Amino acid sequence: MTTTSGAGPAVLEFDAVCKTYPGGVAAVRDVSLRIGRGELVAVVGPSGSGKSSMLNLMGSLDRPSSGQVRIDGHDVAKLSDREVSALRATRIGFVFQQFHLSVGVPVLDAVADGLLYAGVPMRRRRTRAAAALDRVGLGHRLHHLPQQLSGGERQRVAVARAVVGAPSVLLADEPTGNLDSVSGAVVLDLLRELHAAGTTVVVITHDREIADRLPRRLEMRDGRLVADSARGRESGVLR
Ligand code: ADP
Ligand code: MG
Repeated sequence: MTTTSGAGPAVLEFDAVCKTYPGGVAAVRDVSLRIGRGELVAVVGPSGSGKSSMLNLMGSLDRPSSGQVRIDGHDVAKLSDREVSALRATRIGFVFQQFHLSVGVPVLDAVADGLLYAGVPMRRRRTRAAAALDRVGLGHRLHHLPQQLSGGERQRVAVARAVVGAPSVLLADEPTGNLDSVSGAVVLDLLRELHAAGTTVVVITHDREIADRLPRRLEMRDGRLVADSARGRESGVLR
């Protein structure tokens, strides 16, 4: 496989990936792309263009109808359900538009639970959770309950939970969609900081202003990848 380049090993690779939902909606059509370690990428496009479907495929929450999805070099189709779950638990961090925190659970525990399926012992989970919360600027809120936090702070908890397991890639689907512009900017800055510290980040957004602030943009239209700002550069070869 010719999957490496100057940008280092690929974290995510799509080869002619299609996703057709039962009922016949072709949400992703013949998409090929490569995202290298340490990249910060926006997936941008109007509502219904297939962005979330792409993210679900990138995060192994869904399998392609045809084509190949590789995560850290693993072909998702060749893995059992159990292996896919393990791959997801250890290598992928998710942040969604809406983060559902259980009302009575302090944020330290909510973040520590992000390591439950990675087989980390409890004490170690809490230590790592505290460090992750510190990273997102919430080191002074460890014992707060979710209802005592603002929307922006809750989304930062979601980011802490997503990165606590040191995933290969952080996938964020409209992470600022429910936030006012100030809180949204804080969350976006946080993703940029994580990227600067080495995390590979993919951010889905329908907001062109947000996308324009990120170093690489993949544009979706009607399920197709219609533009890649890195196209032609070695790090973003479209095959
Ligand atoms: P976006 O995130 O860009 O708004 P989506 O990936 O959510 O787009 O949706 C792309 C298309 O696939 C839309 O037409 C949507 O209605 C359809 N779709 C998404 N999820 C499903 C599903 N589970 N079953 C059937 N159709 C779906
Ligand atoms: Mg969506």
